[in-house]
Amino acid sequence: MQKERVAYVNGEIVPESEARVSIHDLGFLYGDAVFDTTRTFGHRIFRLRDHLDRLYDSLKYMRIDPGLGKDEMAALTMQVLGANLPLLDDDDDYWVSQRVSRGVRGATADGPTLVIECFPLPFEERAASYRDGLQVVTPSVRRTPPESMSPRAKVHNYINMVQANMEVKSQNPDALAMLLDTNGNIAEGMGANFFIVRDGVIFTPREQHILAGISRKVTIELAHELAIEVREADIDPYDAYTADEAFVTSTSYCICPVASFNGVTVGDGDGDVPGPVTDRLQKAYSGLVGIDIVGQYLARLGS
Ligand code: PMP
Repeated sequence: MQKERVAYVNGEIVPESEARVSIHDLGFLYGDAVFDTTRTFGHRIFRLRDHLDRLYDSLKYMRIDPGLGKDEMAALTMQVLGANLPLLDDDDDYWVSQRVSRGVRGATADGPTLVIECFPLPFEERAASYRDGLQVVTPSVRRTPPESMSPRAKVHNYINMVQANMEVKSQNPDALAMLLDTNGNIAEGMGANFFIVRDGVIFTPREQHILAGISRKVTIELAHELAIEVREADIDPYDAYTADEAFVTSTSYCICPVASFNGVTVGDGDGDVPGPVTDRLQKAYSGLVGIDIVGQYLARLGS
């Protein structure tokens, strides 16, 4: 019986404890690498093609040739996932990632470094956010502007968002940093896109200053199916303070309600989450992926 997860590293599937990347790898030295991460729902992979499309766009932006096409990348991903699924409890799920660096310093002609790996989702750590809602705080650190480095590419350098989170968590360890862009509009958090609801209409930041999340796309599709209007627009902290509801989306969170923004309770003041539109979207998301996304988190409360 296999006891340890495996990963794909440059042509081989090996136990994680034997997986090795060079100390001279440019991904490690400079963050010169890209990645993408999807997840499983009930052990079934979600929107792999969408994630691979985004991965290959990030690779193109970074001018890294992965040396294999999307079909082969998909097949390898499924092979790694298939080998790791037997280690997962029935009610757990995995993050599933592909990581491609430019290769090893001095040896980039040998080609890129490719890693494909799985990691269990942090249900327990985040469960309370589904009951209480997220406390969102804007740090002084602004999201990297497109003039410096496009936030639309998913690159292996999260220092901008790590700095933002450290600043916010030093004030409130439970808070999630929500970065503004250099124009003062809300951009995104570390690994999460932002939405508000006002008078029944959903607003979310435009794509130029953010990573276009796949869960963001799924949420917009679900809203359209529910005949809820969605507008991509510049929204700033004032819009969040005065919104009826707010929520974030990401591969792991799917849709998670926001309780407060910079300490201001979002919505009618009772602080109850989720609001009615967020609730409808969460239920639609659960219907689409075939498991109760909120229930999966709430089941871990106090565990
Ligand atoms: N923004 C950033 C910066 C992210 O890293 C992520 C996570 N990939 C997201 C937004 C949400 O994207 P997705 O819904 O594809 O997980």
